[in-house]
Amino acid sequence: MVELRFLGAAGEVTGSMHVVDTGEDKILLDCGMFQGRRKEAGEKNRTFPVDRSEITSMVLSHAHIDHSGRIPMLTRNGFSGRIVTTRPTRAALDYMLLDSGHIQESDSHYLNYKSLRAFLYEMERSKGGQQISGKEKSAIKKLLKKSPYELDVDTIASLQKEHGLEVVTPLYTQEEARQSLGYIDGYPFGTPVTIGKDVTVKFYVAGHILGSAFSLITVKRPEQTFRILYTGDVGRFDKPILRDPTLVFDEEDRDIDLLITESTYGDREHAPVEDLGDSLKEVLTRTVERGGSLIIPSFAYGRTQEIIYILHELYESGTVPRVPVYVDSPLASNITTVFGEHPESYDRETHEAFLEKGLNPFYFDKIKFVASVEESMKLTRDEVPHVVISASGMCEAGRILHHLRYKIHDPKNTVLLVGYMAQHTLGRRLEEMGLGHDNGDAPADAPEVKILGKAYPLKARVEKIGGFSAHGDRHELMRIITRSNLNVKNIGIVHGEADQSETFAKRLTEKGYNTFIPGPGDRFRL
Ligand SMILES: [Zn+2]
Repeated sequence: MVELRFLGAAGEVTGSMHVVDTGEDKILLDCGMFQGRRKEAGEKNRTFPVDRSEITSMVLSHAHIDHSGRIPMLTRNGFSGRIVTTRPTRAALDYMLLDSGHIQESDSHYLNYKSLRAFLYEMERSKGGQQISGKEKSAIKKLLKKSPYELDVDTIASLQKEHGLEVVTPLYTQEEARQSLGYIDGYPFGTPVTIGKDVTVKFYVAGHILGSAFSLITVKRPEQTFRILYTGDVGRFDKPILRDPTLVFDEEDRDIDLLITESTYGDREHAPVEDLGDSLKEVLTRTVERGGSLIIPSFAYGRTQEIIYILHELYESGTVPRVPVYVDSPLASNITTVFGEHPESYDRETHEAFLEKGLNPFYFDKIKFVASVEESMKLTRDEVPHVVISASGMCEAGRILHHLRYKIHDPKNTVLLVGYMAQHTLGRRLEEMGLGHDNGDAPADAPEVKILGKAYPLKARVEKIGGFSAHGDRHELMRIITRSNLNVKNIGIVHGEADQSETFAKRLTEKGYNTFIPGPGDRFRL
């Protein structure tokens, strides 16, 4: 008997986590974090849905936080197994998990600041018996901050203690993230790795981000062999840099008892991987002709390296103004180094265009990786036309906010959006307000955008280039199943919103496949 239990990203998109129970072993597939509205996601992340001391090993599909982000919670609570993944993913986790630990700590600091501030406002108000003045509010804020952008964590902690207030603790700390790294091993693609009694995993290229894998789990029993293929996230075909998702599996791996597939875009069609270079060339040229700079909010892992790659190609071809390019995100810079160190993951085109000419695709004479905060602040005031790529991708936090607050008031500049902007993010607001601008001049009554608590007029141009998605659309998801050499018995559909999963299931059923959409906690027996 082999049983699957679906614990996260079942009926939704984030928080990927499933368990393979072989009777002898309990193997965790991914250990992802829920993302979304802070309060709801925070509560879901705090409950770990399985007894951690019973888990004997773990397989990780890729380094995105919605698949890997709760690893430090697994390893600090009684887990004594190993976590197995691919080599590039292992290298990227050094940065991804520490960054996540840092975010968890900052989040809890901010929540503590907010609740203490509200408490102090109320105390001040009750003294005077009426409204608290702006001046009194500023004095309280000043007391709790070291600078306009830095909280005074020690003062906040001691005041919370003094007033007996509830303290929010981080989901995990940077130190716990650092310790979890000792449990994780990276292996090559295509080689079986033992992960339990008579259980192996073999990784195949998934093409979603560097290091991302389809995980083939084989349970060999005297009477029967069981094979489970877990896609993790499925990439797109023909994208720059990475090899395409695998369609040809080894002969002994072709018969799959259960395929667990993602379905983020199970009912959507992407534009073909258009010539991203042409679009970028146009936006960059127009911006520089106006004497402006190009600000690109971008995810640190994947998107940033694609932009660098395409800029490098354009700069090599000599068809664009060769203005300086700054990568202003320590995480993005570190992940770019990981990309540079794993050329075995690149597709043939990347080898031909760069490696065979002795070039690193992610490094050229005009690129600079900004390290210190001082350098970053100096850059925000730099009036010489340039390109800056910075995080976070949806403009919710990070250095991008400072570039925006110094640059969006000026119609010379362009904010270039290269990814999906979720609801209730600054990125989405920029998209909705900014894409309304006509070509040419910004409207006289520029819409106001709030950044770090202050309003700024949005006069810069806002442009968007699609086609960068890292997830396959419905044709690409279908292609893995119908155009590969796999024989698939059952398909469990996860990692999608209800309408996406259901439509994808319907299409598969029409083609004669046995499908099901598990809810959280559901089991499937092989
Ligand atoms: Zn992913």
